[in-house]
Amino acid sequence: MSEKMKVAAITDERKVEIKEVTKPIPSANQILINIKACALCTWEQRAFTRLTKMPLPFVGGHEISGVIEAVGEKVNVSDFPIGHKVAARLINVCGKCYFCRNGMENLCVEINNLDDSNMEIPGTGGLGEYIAVNASQVYKLSDGISFEHGAFAEPLACVVNSIEQGKIQLGENVVVIGGGVMGMLHIMLSKLKGAYVIISEPDETRRRLTLELGADIAIDPLEKDPVQTIKDMTEGRGADVIFNTTPISAVAEQAVNMAGYAGRVVMYSSIHPDKPISISPQWLHKSQAIITGAVSPSVRSFEMAVRLLSKGLINPHKLIAGTYCLADVQKAFEMAVVPNTYRIIVTQ
Ligand SMILES: [Zn+2]
Ligand SMILES: [Zn+2]
Repeated sequence: MSEKMKVAAITDERKVEIKEVTKPIPSANQILINIKACALCTWEQRAFTRLTKMPLPFVGGHEISGVIEAVGEKVNVSDFPIGHKVAARLINVCGKCYFCRNGMENLCVEINNLDDSNMEIPGTGGLGEYIAVNASQVYKLSDGISFEHGAFAEPLACVVNSIEQGKIQLGENVVVIGGGVMGMLHIMLSKLKGAYVIISEPDETRRRLTLELGADIAIDPLEKDPVQTIKDMTEGRGADVIFNTTPISAVAEQAVNMAGYAGRVVMYSSIHPDKPISISPQWLHKSQAIITGAVSPSVRSFEMAVRLLSKGLINPHKLIAGTYCLADVQKAFEMAVVPNTYRIIVTQ
C-alpha cells in the first residue's frame, strides 16, 4: 500500500485545510525532499484571499527548505547525500523555448504553466510534508543555516536577479522604494554591492528597521515630494539606481522621475492595477537612462542566493514575523495577509 502524507490545501476563500495525499516516490532523476520550512509569499496570499482565482483545491508554497529524504536511481547520492539540507527552485521552466536556450530561463514562455500533473492536488506543492523534484532544481544549503533562513533562498534569488539588472557601481546612490520583505532584501544586497542606500517608506516602524538592516537614510514619501527629496540628496542629478518594490503605478512613475542621467530603474514588483505611466522620450534620449524590470529567479541568481545565505552574508532573521506548524496553517495564512506583516513561515 502506498504511504500517505499531509498537505495544506486552499479549499475556499480564506480557508486552508490539511488533506492526505499519496507520498510521492522520486522518479529516476528526482530527489524526495522532506520539507521543513515553507514561507508564505504574496502569491500564496493572493490565492488564499482569492485575489488570484486559482482552481481549487490548490496546494501553494514555493519558498521551501528541507532535507533530502531519498533520491532516484540516476541521482548520485554522493552529490546529494541523504539528510543534507537543501532549498529547491519549485517554479520549473521548459528548457526548450527561445529564452530558456539563451540563458534567460526566468523569462521562459511556459514558466507559469506549472507541471503539477504528478500532484494529487494541483499547485507548487511546497505546503506539504514531502515533495519530489528534479535534481536540477535542488540546491544544497550549508549545515549551519536554519530551515527558516533556508526558505529565503527563493525570494532572495528574485532580488539577486533584480540587483543584477541595476548594475550597481561602488559608491553609487541607490533608492529602494518600499520597506517590505523585498525592499529589505534589496537594501541588504545593495549594501553588499557598496552602494549608498536611500529607502523611501511611509511607515515609521518599517523605516526604523530599514536603518537597522543597513539603509543609510530613510525618507517618508508622504512628508515631502520624494522625487524632489532624491534630487536634493544627489546634487540635483537624481539617483543612479532605483528599485521599485511597490505595486503602485503612480510610484513606478516617481521611480522613473527619480533617475539621473545614465540611471537604471528596475520595476521589481508586479503592478496592480497596471495603469500606464508617462515617460518623456526626449529625456530618455538625452539621459541614456535604462528602465527595466526583474521577474522570477534565474538558475544563476538562485545559486547566488543559496551561497549568500549559506555563508551568512545575508541574514533574513529580522524579516521573519512568525512561524507556525503545518497543523496551524490556517492561522499562518490569516497572519500572513495582515498588511505590513513580514514573512510568515510554516515549519514542520
Ligand atoms: Zn516567492
Ligand atoms: Zn522555456
